[in-house]
Amino acid sequence: MLKLKNVSKFYYSKGIIASGFTKINLELKMGEFVAITGESGSGKSTLLNVISGLDSYEEGEMYINGEETSHYTEREFEEYRRKYIANIFQSFNLVNSYTVYQNVELVLLLNGYKKRAIKKKVLQIIDEVGLTKFKNTKVSKLSGGQKQRVAIARAMVKDTPIIVADEPTGNLDSESAKDVIEILKRVAKNKLVIVVTHNIEQVEEYATRIIKMHDGRIIENREVKEIKENIKPEESIYTKITVFNKLRLGTRNTFNILPKFLLLFAVFFFITMALLSEYASFKTSDDEIAKQGYNMNFQDLSENRLLITKGDRSEFTTDDYEKIKMNENVDYIVEDDLYLDKSINLFKEEMGFGGRVEKLSNFKGDLAEGTMPEEENEAVIMVNPDNYFVSMKKDEIIGKEFTLASDNGQEITKVIVTGLQKYEDDLDFYSVKIYISDKTMSELRTAMNKSFSDIKILFNDKYTEIYDNQLLPSEKVEPGCVIINDENRYQFSNLSVKNRPLTVVVNNLYYEDVLDLTVSNTFTKNNFNRVTGYDNYDRYSGSIFINKDEYEAIYNKPSHQSSVFVKDVDKIDETVNSLQDMGFNVRKITDFRVNMFGSILQVAKIFRVIVVAVLLVVLFFISYFIVKIILKSRNIYYTTLRMLGATYNSIKRILDIELFINSTLAYCIVVTLFNLVKYGIIQNEHILKLTHYLGAIEYIIVYLILFIMVRLISIRFSSKIFKKSAINTYNEEV
Ligand code: ADP
Ligand code: MG
Repeated sequence: MLKLKNVSKFYYSKGIIASGFTKINLELKMGEFVAITGESGSGKSTLLNVISGLDSYEEGEMYINGEETSHYTEREFEEYRRKYIANIFQSFNLVNSYTVYQNVELVLLLNGYKKRAIKKKVLQIIDEVGLTKFKNTKVSKLSGGQKQRVAIARAMVKDTPIIVADEPTGNLDSESAKDVIEILKRVAKNKLVIVVTHNIEQVEEYATRIIKMHDGRIIENREVKEIKENIKPEESIYTKITVFNKLRLGTRNTFNILPKFLLLFAVFFFITMALLSEYASFKTSDDEIAKQGYNMNFQDLSENRLLITKGDRSEFTTDDYEKIKMNENVDYIVEDDLYLDKSINLFKEEMGFGGRVEKLSNFKGDLAEGTMPEEENEAVIMVNPDNYFVSMKKDEIIGKEFTLASDNGQEITKVIVTGLQKYEDDLDFYSVKIYISDKTMSELRTAMNKSFSDIKILFNDKYTEIYDNQLLPSEKVEPGCVIINDENRYQFSNLSVKNRPLTVVVNNLYYEDVLDLTVSNTFTKNNFNRVTGYDNYDRYSGSIFINKDEYEAIYNKPSHQSSVFVKDVDKIDETVNSLQDMGFNVRKITDFRVNMFGSILQVAKIFRVIVVAVLLVVLFFISYFIVKIILKSRNIYYTTLRMLGATYNSIKRILDIELFINSTLAYCIVVTLFNLVKYGIIQNEHILKLTHYLGAIEYIIVYLILFIMVRLISIRFSSKIFKKSAINTYNEEV
């Protein structure tokens, strides 16, 4: 069955060659009970390890069942071990956190057997070693002798032809030792059992062959009893571990050592918390930076404001507003949002206010002084009662005419202030709100549109951009006509510009207007006033003059842009999407924020990304090392699995499953906790703040990071188990 021919084993360490054993010749048959003795260091363990395929040999040939093994690769030896060898160790090498039953069953689960199918066999073998009473007891609670009997049961259940036991009685009292040897002898009847022992008397009456070793050589090889019958060796039957068994073991390992479970759980809990907080605080500072922005064109940069125009740039209808209001996150619409953004001055003589306008129809509450406007050129103002002019010169305000001007000083119109309303709060000490009629609002809009428009003319096939004071209204021009400087005639070969086409294109944020005109007349220095109605030729010589009503119509447009204010800023993106689906152009006002320190903040942002990346890496390594320390106690377990025939992949998978279950559990608890806080069931200020920045995608990303970390940990861990030969790993761990 097993034959060694001149087999030698050397150890190389630090350049020194030590001999494990030298030129061993041995032939062992099935049915033998071989006892190997010899003083410490004589090479007994080394010999057993080589026979077990746990360690390699350097010289000679070893035959198993007639097959030569010196060319075997590591993998082939793993297979060899699974087919032929069962080991029993001095230190038992059991899984302490498993019950007796689970320990015996383990080897079969790893070798592809189904749990249900093996139950009878496992119980029967437990009975054979006399442990039926303890089958559901954890191995850690057993005595040494009982433990070794479990180890024997485990070796037996695998049904290999060879059982190898290295000093199985070394840790046992003489009574238990006797038991163990007796059981082994019983087993040996139709197997080959090789036992190493110090104590030759103990085995003498059972052994069929006694081998004595000294200094790495066999000095005596005595057949005590001859084995006559020829027992045919039966290879152990095994397949790959089933997925279900991996799951079973992974789950069992997750929970079977409570402190380990809790420690790992705590680690994953904190990793998840740290990842989520890190992510959220990253978003927070992003947000804060965005809030610091400003924009010249927009005064109201509230986060919940959306700018909305129609896809075709046409004006809004009541139907449009009804449609927009259907969206449940829409709080209110400011149909004509001009007044939200425009700073306006209201002044007369030595008195002046600055503020914003609002439509009179939006006026709420009561007046403190005066009356509501009745005429279109009347207005009321809302102002802080402590304002200097209000407290000192109230009589100079009510009933008096003021000039309404834009913040760049351009006069728009005159209004008479008829009443005062007081600010509820005194936040805005200097500013006022000016409630004006629709007509005044429309004049204001015209002025605004004008100052924000680009004007181009197309004349003689050329586009030219002109300033707004180069396009002027004149009562002397008929609709559809335009009057230009006579000198333009020199652009044409026949020196005539009359009746030539001229197109005016006015373009601004909200709309584009095109006027197709015909040159009806030209002006010169001499006829300037007569033709245009203007006085200063030198000033306006480059201007073109169009009909007054047409001029008004270009700028006096109804609202083409509205503002929508949402209730929940967190859901603003959804609202943007749903309004866009309705066909509107929607922009968040926050997108228009410009930052004064743009480039510095950009650098700061890149820096922050780097800091977060470094933090992630640090977090990974910290948690990797903590997990590694926790798992260190598991090394023995996984080495044991390896000795029992588990492959690299199945060990990795079992560990994967354990870490996966634990981390997912921790993750789920954190997410549940966050959501309980979010929905107000648990109160926690800090977490509540974080939840604002966390949506489904963020949770998924964090889970993926966690998942990747777990995978990396299990890959590193299992390759460590397989880095060295099985016996080296085992020796290191035990
Ligand atoms: P025994 O089991 O009979 O006590 P061993 O087989 O353990 O003896 O050891 C035989 C010889 O091999 C001893 O000289 C020992 O020092 C040496 N040896 C065993 N294992 C190693 C090793 N991993 N590296 C170097 N030398 C070793
Ligand atoms: Mg030894």
